[in-house]
Amino acid sequence: MSSRLSACALHRLLASTVRTGLVLAGLVLAGGAAHAAPASLPESASVALTFDDLPGIVLKPDQAYVEATNKALIKGLKHHHFPAIGFVNEGKLDEIIRARQIAVLQRWIKAGFDLGNHTFSHSSPNNVGAAGYIADIARGEKVIRPMMVKAHRNLQWFRHPYLETGSPEPVKAQINAWLAGHGYRIAPVTIDADDWEFAEPYDNAVMTGNTAEAARIRGVYLAYTERSIGWYRRASHVLFGRDIAYVMLLHDTRLNADCFEGLAAILARQNLRPITIDQALRDPAYRTADNYSGKDGIEWMERWSDTLKKDLPWSDYEDVPKGIVKEYDKLDSN
Ligand SMILES: [Zn+2]
Repeated sequence: MSSRLSACALHRLLASTVRTGLVLAGLVLAGGAAHAAPASLPESASVALTFDDLPGIVLKPDQAYVEATNKALIKGLKHHHFPAIGFVNEGKLDEIIRARQIAVLQRWIKAGFDLGNHTFSHSSPNNVGAAGYIADIARGEKVIRPMMVKAHRNLQWFRHPYLETGSPEPVKAQINAWLAGHGYRIAPVTIDADDWEFAEPYDNAVMTGNTAEAARIRGVYLAYTERSIGWYRRASHVLFGRDIAYVMLLHDTRLNADCFEGLAAILARQNLRPITIDQALRDPAYRTADNYSGKDGIEWMERWSDTLKKDLPWSDYEDVPKGIVKEYDKLDSN
């Protein structure tokens, strides 16, 4: 899961306050032109779909629920011929029934998807330091490395939990050196629609049989996701003057399984074609340096905005709806 961080929010708020005047002026200048644009598909672009926290995030440990979630997700991906990668927390294997959790991972591989390392215990370098974090990464490949080798695949991708990459700089450098020395490539994120925050309220609705609330959350989530994708595309145009090949962060949740057709429809409307993460990272944008060494878990558009000294369009950045945040916080504190 990612984290909502106050410093990050503050940054956005400040940027938005500074820019409000400019945006208002721009709207006046644009006049009615915005309304005259014909409804047509956006420019075509590509996106790598990445799912974190395998074998699944679930509000309460329920093996059958986890299995149904993964079965539906894999079915949706295969039906649409979408490539994908799943990032595993091996610490989750013992949270329910180990053999069946491992079988879930096996199903991803058998379906043709790669697995990546997401640390053993979903740790943060801010809490455990460089040495502790590196140990947690090493511990996170005990099951998946042999599994990948057996399937003649290369375990090469690492995704930082919370997108926290190490702070201060020497901590980040030590982690990066270990990753590179062990054949890992860092999986950046360039679309993050905060799906994890909707997922627990959704589990709660499903698990309590509240079908109306589950349907409402699916609707709110999909609408928010489509608006978020729009924002990241605008951010990409600010930084690079074009759509880059995006890497979208999603989580292995019942929400995404149940919303799969809705997500596929969004990608179709947005004219975004799913590709592998390996293909996405061939886009030269990913050669832009990530010099960020703060504690916040931020995605790569924000990191590159500092490198390239270009401001992101924070004035129209939209936060997760308050009702969802409130519901998540309530469930998370229990
Ligand atoms: Zn995660």
